Amino acid sequence: MVELPLTHIRCPACNEDQARPGYDKQGFSIVQCRRCTLRYVNPRPSRTWLDAWYQRAYFSPSHDNAAGAQHLLHEAVKTATARLRLQLLSPAGPKGRLLDIGCGGGFFVRAAAAVGWDAMGLEPSVEAARHAARTQHIRVVAGRSEETPFVDDRFDVITLFDVLEHVFCPRTCLTEARRLLAPDGKLVIETPNMAGWLPRVMGTRHPWIRPPEHLTYFTPPTLRLLLAQCGLRVEQLHGRTTKVLTLEYVLALLTQTNPLLTTLLRGTIGRWKPLSRYPFSVPLDTMLAVASPSSQERSA
Ligand SMILES: [Zn+2]
Repeated sequence: MVELPLTHIRCPACNEDQARPGYDKQGFSIVQCRRCTLRYVNPRPSRTWLDAWYQRAYFSPSHDNAAGAQHLLHEAVKTATARLRLQLLSPAGPKGRLLDIGCGGGFFVRAAAAVGWDAMGLEPSVEAARHAARTQHIRVVAGRSEETPFVDDRFDVITLFDVLEHVFCPRTCLTEARRLLAPDGKLVIETPNMAGWLPRVMGTRHPWIRPPEHLTYFTPPTLRLLLAQCGLRVEQLHGRTTKVLTLEYVLALLTQTNPLLTTLLRGTIGRWKPLSRYPFSVPLDTMLAVASPSSQERSA
């Protein structure tokens, strides 16, 4: 185990404390809940440690675990995926207020604003928030997803793209998102589907099992359970989602968790630069869920 402040938590989905020991990866212990089957890192690094780690490592290109820096560098593919996600929202009527929680480089916020949404981002990394405001010319506020700086603001759409698996407490994050939703608002969540074909085949070697970056490994039933407990009703849940990628981007992300595989791929496909930079759409084992405040909560 790694030497850092670790906190024991209850199951992020069902809130019970009945996990069976699982396995270690990258110095962290991954357990499985006996009650709801969710896999999660437990004990996990404290919020304070995670905040510092994200500031120090995640968005710093010089760090060897800098997936966030890779997100910022690959604007074209991120923007192309953002446009795909906007198709989910396409209301015929006027577009309202949209908040992208964990907006990273701000590409989705910019794409949403371009088609008429009154869009803004929230980003825990001060460095990434500054980068997003400077390069994408968007409104972005620095702050945690679990403890936002908004008091009276309400949003018609809140998005959490590739965020829930990162946060210390997904329950607090969704409860806060629920609080910020307008009564008829929609919450859109994208997170890895660990019940997908490739995660099941690869098991512990799958690159999405990457603590301390990814801490909670959802499946459709465990995500539904958590959403219900946070006062959110699932309207749509897709087990596979299309993303736009380039080989260059995939290799940059794989370097940290699968260095041997990355070296092999770089030695073959990666040497043809035009090919490695060619964008392609691919269905991935990522869940995309649309939820709204449940009727009981709405009338409360
Ligand atoms: Zn559980």
